[in-house]
Amino acid sequence: MSGLYIHIPFCSSKCAYCGFYSIPSLKRKADFLEALNQEIAARKGDLHGEKVGTVYFGGGTPSLLKEEELETILKTLHDHFEIDPEAEVTLEANPDTLSLDYLVSLRKLGVNRLSIGIQSFFDEDLKYLSRRHDAQHAQDCLLWARAAGFDNVTIDLIYGLPTSDADQWNRNLDRFFATGFPHLSAYALTLEPNAILTKQIEMGKVLPVNEDDAVRDYEILYRRAEENGFQHYEISNFCKPGMHSRHNTSYWFGVPYAGFGPSAHSYDGVSRQWNGSSLERYLEQPRQGLPVGDSGLRDETPGYGRVEKEILTPEQRYDEYVMLRLRTMWGVDLSAMKQALGARFSTYCEKNAQPLIEQDRLSRKGDVLYLTDQQMLFADGIAEALFW
Ligand code: SF4
Repeated sequence: MSGLYIHIPFCSSKCAYCGFYSIPSLKRKADFLEALNQEIAARKGDLHGEKVGTVYFGGGTPSLLKEEELETILKTLHDHFEIDPEAEVTLEANPDTLSLDYLVSLRKLGVNRLSIGIQSFFDEDLKYLSRRHDAQHAQDCLLWARAAGFDNVTIDLIYGLPTSDADQWNRNLDRFFATGFPHLSAYALTLEPNAILTKQIEMGKVLPVNEDDAVRDYEILYRRAEENGFQHYEISNFCKPGMHSRHNTSYWFGVPYAGFGPSAHSYDGVSRQWNGSSLERYLEQPRQGLPVGDSGLRDETPGYGRVEKEILTPEQRYDEYVMLRLRTMWGVDLSAMKQALGARFSTYCEKNAQPLIEQDRLSRKGDVLYLTDQQMLFADGIAEALFW
């Protein structure tokens, strides 16, 4: 089954570490919603009638949308795509936008999985990241989520923070495991070139980041996850058995999906398309009388405005296959690769894997190449060594 992704580009304000495309103002929300619903309708044929197994509202902050706005988007999706009644419907939410009433209404709309950007259960960390909620509110909204009937909840945490030490990171994890929720995404703090935090550090205004802290916290993370019965199923993702994100996992397995909204990507199994990272340009299309998301449109400026498209060569498909699968606990299955891409690629991969296995940088069980928790720290370099 395929997937649908809806990108909501608005946030209440910009977090210091954020390198994503997001707009810290709701001024153009009504225009955006109109264009988004038009784009969904215009691209109803994108999945060729294939059933949809996952719907994902990402951002930005999708929980800034009102109940009736989300209801309209869901209705448009249902009108134009065949969505499985058992589909996983995820919505990313930030604690400062959540209340018990709002969570109850999300559940009624059919949202059955919440991804909450907690980031830390400690005020000094949240302040450093310039998040809009405090530790108490982080705890409260998890209680409200449970009370509203959400069992399938994932939270995001950030580690490697200079405001935290190993003991505090352990206490952060204690608080997550105490919730009983089945999924955790944990990311090392990275300094994005365009992020406010990067500039603040350069100017000496806030504490610098030490990479060794992230390695220390990562080792604590995978050990604690295992002790608590969580599977480390992707570099940054941990879950109770069977509770992985179906939507994100389908990206790693090359399942087709259609993405809507500025900066959203789509994949049809052969080519990748994406909308530019500009709300202004996204809104211009209907005003010019052109259907939003018409894949016939091309822009001279890559990355901005209308749909861009890239047809993947077999070699690019091989590189993606290696890069995405190696990040997961399922690894690279050489016989599945042979079937999907051909013997030329699986033979090449096996040959290049051998020296890495001998150097203990990569592991092999039967036909499957995979990374241990420790080896995952160097996943990018190992994938590169296997690239075409
Ligand atoms: S809420 Fe997320 S997308 Fe929005 S500014 Fe913060 S990190 Fe960026």
